[in-house]
Amino acid sequence: MEIRKVLVIGAGQMGAGIAQVAAQAGLEVVLNDLKPEFLERGMGTITKNLSRDVEKGRKTEEEKAAILARLHPTTNMGDAHDAQLAIEAATENMEIKKNIFRQMDEVLQEGAILATNTSSLPITEIAAVTSRPELVIGMHFMNPVPVMKLVEIIRGLATTDEVYKTIEVLSKQMGKVPVEVNDFPGFVSNRVLMPMINEAIYCVFEGVATPEAVDEVMKLGMNHPMGPLTLADFIGLDTCLAIMEVLYEGFGDSKYRPCPLLRKYVKAGWLGKKTGRGFYTYS
Ligand code: NAD
Repeated sequence: MEIRKVLVIGAGQMGAGIAQVAAQAGLEVVLNDLKPEFLERGMGTITKNLSRDVEKGRKTEEEKAAILARLHPTTNMGDAHDAQLAIEAATENMEIKKNIFRQMDEVLQEGAILATNTSSLPITEIAAVTSRPELVIGMHFMNPVPVMKLVEIIRGLATTDEVYKTIEVLSKQMGKVPVEVNDFPGFVSNRVLMPMINEAIYCVFEGVATPEAVDEVMKLGMNHPMGPLTLADFIGLDTCLAIMEVLYEGFGDSKYRPCPLLRKYVKAGWLGKKTGRGFYTYS
């Protein structure tokens, strides 16, 4: 099936970015979230990104206008009943995702592919709540989506080769480099990255060093472009905690236990850049 129209669920950091790159690739995009103000925030981010591209000469005003015209924000998922693909980018929580997949399964036409941008949750378990597990797949973009090249593609147990191929081709059309990985907790990206971030948080928790010092060590010593605590703030500390919980539960190994300081920050509502405070403060 040729993909011409896509539903993106969640207009947060990831959903807005996915909607932008899909519209840039020429697709009609229905962007769905729970409240109009969440959609306004997402559309605001996209407009700002595109304006910056125009200022820097990477796009013309006409291209910006054409991209924005392909984006249709709505709180009604039903507006996307004729889409050929849905990409879910809502909060990292299994119950929330299962409910969304049940709903998408009812609303979207027969044959439509249902993808999830989950960072860590099992694709097979999400697929099992639908009547079309063979059409469910993981499509894991990186943050910020318009900039980062990688898309991890994760097959569920029942995902067909045809669906995999369609998503691989579409990822390239969206300017990304697809890499296939198997359905294991955290896939590859977050199985490797998140324990490092968690360990960096332990360094602060145990008084080994300040957040600034931890980040400086990893930037100057390991040539990382961004320190792990700055990166955690960018990802969102709620998302980091959710991923650590998935690794801890999925592997049953104590090496994945989330740092108590991470839990404390999330309970305080210090979720990083998106709430203005995490390991650092943001204006
Ligand atoms: P976010 O908190 O910025 O945005 C989540 C959005 O989903 C919010 O706007 C929320 O209102 C919306 N939402 C929640 N329930 C919904 C529902 N039932 N219907 C419609 N919208 C709903 O989070 P994010 O950082 O964009 O993460 C979204 C997903 O992407 C998560 O699964 C996360 O693990 C994954 N992800 C995040 C990153 C990252 O760096 N932040 C990277 C890759 C993947």
